[in-house]
Amino acid sequence: MTETFPLVGEPLALDLLNTCPVDGDLIADPAGLADWLAAQSGRLGPVGGAVGAAEVAAVQGVREAARAALEAVRGGARPPAESLRVLNEAMAAAPAHRELVRAEGGGLAVAARRAGGTPARRLAAELAEAVADLLTDARVGQVRRCEGPGCVLLFLPVNPRRRWCVATACGNRARVARYYARHRPDGA
Ligand SMILES: [Zn+2]
Repeated sequence: MTETFPLVGEPLALDLLNTCPVDGDLIADPAGLADWLAAQSGRLGPVGGAVGAAEVAAVQGVREAARAALEAVRGGARPPAESLRVLNEAMAAAPAHRELVRAEGGGLAVAARRAGGTPARRLAAELAEAVADLLTDARVGQVRRCEGPGCVLLFLPVNPRRRWCVATACGNRARVARYYARHRPDGA
C-alpha cells in the first residue's frame, strides 16, 4: 500500500467519507482508490477488474451524495432529495442477489453476492447500500466528528466517551495544544 488511511474500520459508509481528511482526497486517482479497496478487503466484493477513472468517479459520486445525506440526517433534517436519488440510482444500477453454487466436494455452498453491471456500477451499488444501512441505522444520530483541531473525520463511537478519530493522533495533538496554552510565557 502506498497510501495510509487515517481511519478505517468504522461503518463502511463512514470509512468512505473519511477518505476526505482535511488535507485532500485520498481516492482522487485509481491508485488511491485501489489502496482504499485493499484496506477494506473482506468488506466489499471483488471489483472484478482494474480500478480506473470510471471507478473513481462512481465512488466519488456516491461519497458526495452520502455526505449531504448524512449531514442532514445527523442534524435531524430530511436528506436532500437529490442525494437520495443518486444513492437509489446507484443501488438500482447493479442490484445484488444471492447465487447458489455446488461446492467442490458435493455439498451446497451459497455465494454471498452476485451483481451485474460494470465494476464501477457494482462498486457504487455496494457503497450506496452501505450508506443506506447507515442512514437508516438507529445509531446514525450518534455519529460524531473528531474533536481534533481541524480534523473532519467521522466515527460511530462504541464507547460514548470517545472524542477522537485516533487517540494517538488527534488526542495527543489536543493534549499538546492544551499544554502549551497553559504554559505560554506571556500568560495569555
Ligand atoms: Zn481526528
